Amino acid sequence: MAQMFYDSDADLSVIQGRVVAVIGYGSQGHAHALSLRDSGVDVRVGLREGSKSWAKAEAEGLRVVSPAQAVEEANLIMVLAPDQVQRHLYKESIEPHLVAGDALFFAHGFNIRFGYVTPPPGVDVCMVAPKGPGHLVRREYSEGRGVPVIVAVEKDETGNAWPLALSYAKAIGGLRAGGIKTTFTEETETDLFGEQAVLCGGTSALVTAGFEVLTEAGYQPEVAYFECLHELKLIVDLMYEGGIAKQRWSVSDTAEFGDYVSGPRVIDASVKQRMKDVLADIQSGAFAKRFIDDQDAGAPEFKALRAKGEQHPIEATGRKLRGLMSWVKSHDDDYVEGTAA
Ligand code: NDP
Ligand code: MG
Ligand code: MG
Repeated sequence: MAQMFYDSDADLSVIQGRVVAVIGYGSQGHAHALSLRDSGVDVRVGLREGSKSWAKAEAEGLRVVSPAQAVEEANLIMVLAPDQVQRHLYKESIEPHLVAGDALFFAHGFNIRFGYVTPPPGVDVCMVAPKGPGHLVRREYSEGRGVPVIVAVEKDETGNAWPLALSYAKAIGGLRAGGIKTTFTEETETDLFGEQAVLCGGTSALVTAGFEVLTEAGYQPEVAYFECLHELKLIVDLMYEGGIAKQRWSVSDTAEFGDYVSGPRVIDASVKQRMKDVLADIQSGAFAKRFIDDQDAGAPEFKALRAKGEQHPIEATGRKLRGLMSWVKSHDDDYVEGTAA
């Protein structure tokens, strides 16, 4: 079993004795900065000139300065900019201002695990990664609860990295729910595998393939959309509440029997073998290199794949059908239908 940490395992005064810079003010950044501040921590936000987030952070009463100034002032730097910009941000604005005794924090291990960021000797390297989106992290904190976090220490140069990481986790409410001890390697590799093989890649491909099989067999796309995409939410909600067992308990006996006999025909040993191939590409760094090389070249592969996905007939069908369902609407104010490409 994993080692767990709770509020009683951490001392809030450790983080209250530090000067913290939160770099980035997006999903995670806003949640960390505001909850740290409300926990009595001296926090400033580091954002680039002209940042869209600047006014939002100031409107909450936070002090906003350039990333370089934030790092200079602080002795604990939490890096919450997008993973693909962290390497450049680190070289330009973080590394020149790090001194021995500082701590560098992350919410995802990508850049440390794959060697894109290599902090100097004397600097602690820690991770506090909430297992939920930033808006939920902030809401739970504000209501006196918390979202579980995973906590890791990659480099304990001062000998105080663990008490510091746990104190940070407590200050954002994570230890009210519970902290799980992990490593940068485990967090990074399992996070990438989960999103590629199951959550994002696997599910998107499964839904799309099901929609294609039905429409190619002559069934109407509107009906195929409901059967293969729309109803997925019901199934996922049941799994979220009570695991696969609750989903099987809730559906009809016909559906449950079909689950047992047909699921393994679709997701068979060959699929599991290809999942292992995906994991091997993550572990070797091949996936990370492909992503970062493409990003550095202006993301041609990423943009082409995004445009291709957007053009799939399932999207046009979905836009039309969602218009009929007044209760179905996007919960993300920044997302605009059909603009992903
Ligand atoms: P977002 O994309 O939501 O936010 C990014 C923020 O960084 C924005 O405020 C953006 O501001 C700022 N930013 C972008 N480029 C720069 C730059 N060059 N210099 C300074 N600031 C910059 O990121 P997330 O919160 O989703 O992700 C942050 C980290 O948290 C990542 O490591 C991610 O893996 C991790 N994480 C994310 C989770 C999530 O649910 N989203 C969950 C757990 C971990 P602007 O563009 O206005 O300048
Ligand atoms: Mg400093
Ligand atoms: Mg991820």
